[in-house]
Amino acid sequence: MNTKHKPLFIVMSAPSGCGKSTLIDMILQEYHDISYSISCTTRAPRGEEENGVDYHFLDKARFEELIREDAFIEYAEVHGNYYGTLKAPIREVLEEGHSMILDIDVQGAQKVRDYVRSLPNNDPLKIGYVDIFILPPSMEELRERLVKRGTDAPATIEKRLDNAEGEIARQGEYMYRVTNDDLAVCYKRLCDLIDAVSGRM
Ligand code: 5GP
Repeated sequence: MNTKHKPLFIVMSAPSGCGKSTLIDMILQEYHDISYSISCTTRAPRGEEENGVDYHFLDKARFEELIREDAFIEYAEVHGNYYGTLKAPIREVLEEGHSMILDIDVQGAQKVRDYVRSLPNNDPLKIGYVDIFILPPSMEELRERLVKRGTDAPATIEKRLDNAEGEIARQGEYMYRVTNDDLAVCYKRLCDLIDAVSGRM
């Protein structure tokens, strides 16, 4: 395998229930030179969540200071808390020749894309940028998966399906779309895509 490949800045989005977290975990286990981007948030840690692992947990004053310093590639307010992605760790990882993967919704992805577009053509973040949308095989299948998962009340499932429709309608904004009809097949497609785009072949 060619060891001198292009460091990637990978953005992945998918409606809830499409297996995105599982696929990202599989990628991280296989590709040791790909790091996961840890978001910052002002919400309190839940359960076993660890600072610097699940999120960087910050207080509101510190988060707002970082906003003023233009430290975020994107940020949003969700249910009264801030969430954001720092620029610096992405830059550091790419400068080391490694890749970074971001798990973000379509609105966040739009902000990241706008930021990347504003960069000069020779910027490593622009050179390595790739965004991927994971699709369910069908809405019926997605509904079945959410029901089987058993974590959501029927009303929540309907809300997730509504959101999914809105997100799927924006799939055309992504450079690549991969359908998760079968986890192993979808994973293989993602690996082939990463290998091809980074020139690992
Ligand atoms: P939770 O509090 O359940 O971990 O996340 C709440 C919401 O915040 C989720 O929809 C999640 O996708 C979103 N979120 C997490 N990190 C980020 C981030 O860095 N940027 C943005 N825009 N949203 C995020």
